[in-house]
Amino acid sequence: MKVCETFSSIQGESSLAGLATFFIRTSGCNLNCEYCDSKFAHSEGREMSCAELIKEAQDSGLDYICITGGEPLLQDESRDLANRLVEINKIVSIETNGSLFAEGLDSRVKRIFDVKTPDSGAANTFDLRNIKVHTNNDEFKFVICSENDFTWAEEFVAEHLKSSDASILYSPSFDKISEKWLAKNLVLKKSSARLQIQLHKKIWFPDTRGV
Ligand code: SF4
Repeated sequence: MKVCETFSSIQGESSLAGLATFFIRTSGCNLNCEYCDSKFAHSEGREMSCAELIKEAQDSGLDYICITGGEPLLQDESRDLANRLVEINKIVSIETNGSLFAEGLDSRVKRIFDVKTPDSGAANTFDLRNIKVHTNNDEFKFVICSENDFTWAEEFVAEHLKSSDASILYSPSFDKISEKWLAKNLVLKKSSARLQIQLHKKIWFPDTRGV
């Protein structure tokens, strides 16, 4: 499979935020979001086998493995890799933009769906079959760029995820809205979503590559 980079760092997002994690960033993406901070992953990369990646994950000595991108599900090998990593007792999450059907993954693999809002520039790309097959282990993340995005996300959750126990995470787009604005609105609107701060950017900015 084509892999952009591997590195060890702190997980910045999801319910696993704050944990030391080994990252595998795959190459290629089928979307072109306005705020994308990993455009380098759209083309950069080199071929690596699942066996090589599993060895690197083991050599990292870390229990948590995150497969991210780009869009990992563009390559079928990502599914095989995730499933093989849980088999060796790693705690595995896979970050996907939700535009592809995330089938074929072991239920122990945490799928983190990044549901694209209107202001992402990639609206209406979410594959709704993912709603039908999701489990309580999965998480749905919305990057909120504006008040319009906030309203859209609330409506999406009300329509599709009302009876779900999966975590709903709202993250403020880095330079579009403030954490304070989002926090206030979550309380005012009695939202069921959880505020998520992109920890890795707080910690490492402006060095956002490979950390
Ligand atoms: S889906 Fe992710 S990697 Fe792809 S363009 Fe959007 S933010 Fe960038």
